[in-house]
Formats: sequence, structure tokens, C-alpha cells
Amino acid sequence: MDIELSSEARQWQTMARDFADEYLQPHEVEAEHNGGVLSPELTARNKARAKEIGFSRMDMPKSLGGLELSIESQVAVWEQLGRVTNALAWCFAEPQSWMLEACSADQLQRYVLPLMRGEAHDCYAITEEGPGSDVAALSATAVRDGDGYRLNGEKWFVTSANLANYFWFQARVEEDDSDALFFIDQGTEGVEIIDTPTFSHTYAAHHPTYRFKDVWVPAANRVGKAGDDMAYTRAWFRRERLMIAARSCGAAARLIEEASEFARHRMVGGEPLIDKQAIQMMLADSATELWATRLMTYEAANAHDRDEPLRSLHMRCSMVKLYASEMANRVADRAVQIFGGRGYMRENVAERFFRELRVDRIWEGTSEIQRLIIAGGLKKRGLEGM
Ligand SMILES: Cc1cc2nc3c(=O)[nH]c(=O)nc-3n(C[C@H](O)[C@H](O)[C@H](O)COP(=O)(O)OP(=O)(O)OC[C@H]3O[C@@H](n4cnc5c(N)ncnc54)[C@H](O)[C@@H]3O)c2cc1C
Repeated sequence: MDIELSSEARQWQTMARDFADEYLQPHEVEAEHNGGVLSPELTARNKARAKEIGFSRMDMPKSLGGLELSIESQVAVWEQLGRVTNALAWCFAEPQSWMLEACSADQLQRYVLPLMRGEAHDCYAITEEGPGSDVAALSATAVRDGDGYRLNGEKWFVTSANLANYFWFQARVEEDDSDALFFIDQGTEGVEIIDTPTFSHTYAAHHPTYRFKDVWVPAANRVGKAGDDMAYTRAWFRRERLMIAARSCGAAARLIEEASEFARHRMVGGEPLIDKQAIQMMLADSATELWATRLMTYEAANAHDRDEPLRSLHMRCSMVKLYASEMANRVADRAVQIFGGRGYMRENVAERFFRELRVDRIWEGTSEIQRLIIAGGLKKRGLEGM
């Protein structure tokens, strides 16, 4: 079930697959039993290898020491990394190309390039308790104070904040009545962690709740200019949605492979499970849905490489995120069923993915929000304009 890829993408696909198979996959169960955390030696080894391969440099321009890979190649990488549970692939930071447009030269030096060099990690503080999915209604504020801004707000689900050096913090800027992102360094006065809830998955990266009370940052920490509003948050969403689709394809492929392998050897009533039609139906549906999802995901990646209009890319990212995350959840459900009781054990990849993939229908905009975006585009521009 191969897809024709450029030779660059093929090469990166192989490198990412080797990394996933050799460095990450063998340690999934160990991570599962240990709160998602690997030993310091393994963690350091994985980070060093990820850095050596250049994962952090994929989306950065060559002029700044990046690799400037096509989006097709980056999707190929994230698809393979998506085969691994427990977020073990999150062993590198990922500066994204939209940051070049968004950030000043000083911000690139202080915040973005350290991500690329493996010297820093970031996290995104956007979601709030009240507005939730409605990111246009956020209530965090930024008020001018001398040479800087005074920031206030409470942010939920700040992924990786326990491992991050700084936040991208979204707030409503009083003076120009628009939204903006701000850099806030960890440890700045007024930044307080108020809860670290536990979630269904077992990841070393936590999702804490933070209170930001009268946090002062210099004006140089404001990202972009008045009027940019949510443009960069949307750029981040697009990127994350596309890569969620890629990871969903990788996870589904692994699940189909492992469930088929199990069914080939599991004897039921004197014959292999894979010869039972009920099992064959589940595997056939899974393989077909994966094939369709991979085609649409790579087409969405190629649309980025072709520089298609932003509106159209925004639609496609929503569509692939919606379809791929729901596809992977269906596949995980079937895989658990094929494994039977074994599929309910934490040692089993199907059990782990069954829990882990669920959030892909929630974060970076729920399935319902993706449908609203898609329906909004359809209403405004029709199918031709999507
Ligand atoms: C593990 C995890 C990690 C996360 N990491 C981050 C992070 O790093 N940074 C960050 O900023 N956020 C993060 N989030 C937040 C995530 O993006 C939100 O949870 C998500 O956008 C949904 O918001 P909500 O939880 O407030 O749900 P709600 O907005 O309360 O939605 C509840 C339900 O109502 C539906 N709904 C809402 N509005 C509508 C509507 N208009 N029409 C129809 N149905 C609607 C939703 O689809 C959902 O089914 C994370 C969340 C989780 C669970």
C-alpha cells in the first residue's frame, strides 16, 4: 500500500522509521509502567539521536541552519513517529516556519533558534476554562505597563509545560483591541502552576493548569504587530492538525500490522483467527480507511508545497485532522477487539493507542470544531473554493 513519494521524502521516511523502530518502540512498555518517563540515559540517547538526524531543523530555512524540508517529507517523518506510543517521539523541539514571519530577529535569537539547536523547549498556553473551543473569546489580557505589558489569565492543558523553558501565551491586547501571542519565560514572577491533572495517556509531558497573575514582560516579547490578531495561532493549528493526521496514519498502520500478525498466529477452533470472516471484515475496513487517509494527508502536504491559498490549506488541514483522527480511533477500537482480552492489557500496543488516540479528536480543535470550519468554508466559497 505504497504511495509515490519524492526521493527526499522517501529518505526521511526511512530515517524516521529506523529511529522509531530502534530507539523508541522497544521502550514503550517501560515508559507505560513509569509515568511515561524513560531513564535519564535513554532520554539523553534519544534526544542526541533526534538532534543528529536533524528533526528539529526540518521546517527551518537553510539560511538559519535548517534543512528546509518539503512538507511532504515532514509528513513522512511524523507518520513514522506516529507509530510509537507514550509520546516517546516527543524528544525534540520543533520550531515551525511560520515563526520566521511572526518573530523579530531578537525573538528568533532568544526563543526560536534555541529550539532548533536542542537547547530549549516551548509550550502553548492558549486554552481557557470558560471559552474552551471558542478561541476567539479568550479572556486573558495584556495591558501596557511602561516598556512592556502586564499579562493576566488562567490557562488550561498547557502541554509539555513541565519540560518547557517558555510559554507562547495568548492574550487580548487592550490598547489595540486585538489578540497576540507573548513569550513568557518559565520562572517569571506571577507565573503559578495551580494543578497537574492526570489524563488517559501515560506521557512524560504533562498538561498543567497555570495562573498568570500580573506577569510583566518587555514589549519585545510581543509576537507580531497590532492587527496580526490570531494569524499565528492559526498557523500553529494548521501545522499541528496536519501532523496529527500524519501521526494517525502511522498509528493505524502499526495497529493493522500488529493485529494482523496476532490474528495469523492465534488459533481459534483449530484455525488461525485471520481466517474468520468477522476478523477479516475489521482488517479490510481498517486497511481501506488508512489508504484513503494517507492519500488525503499526502495531498494536503503537497498542497502546502505547491503554495496553495491559505484558506484552502486551512480547510484541508481541518479535513485531514478530522478524518484521520476519527479513522485511527476506529482502527484502534477494532484492534483491541481482534486482540480480545490481550488487547485490554497495558502491555499491548492496541490498548495504549486506544487511550492515546482519543485526544486527537479533541486537541487542536475538536472534531465538531473542524466540521464547523469545513462547513463555514463550504458555505462561503462552495466546493470549488475549498
Ligand atoms: C491532553 C490535552 C492537551 C492539550 N494541550 C493543549 C495545549 O498545549 N495548549 C492549549 O492551549 N490547549 C491544549 N489543549 C486544549 C484543547 O485544545 C481543548 O481541550 C479543546 O480545544 C476543546 O476545548 P474544551 O476542552 O474547553 O471543550 P469545550 O469547548 O467545552 O467543548 C465541549 C464539547 O462541546 C463541543 N462544542 C464546543 N463548541 C461547539 C460548537 N460551537 N458547536 C458544536 N459543538 C461544540 C466540543 O466539540 C466538545 O465536544 C489540550 C487538551 C487536552 C485534553
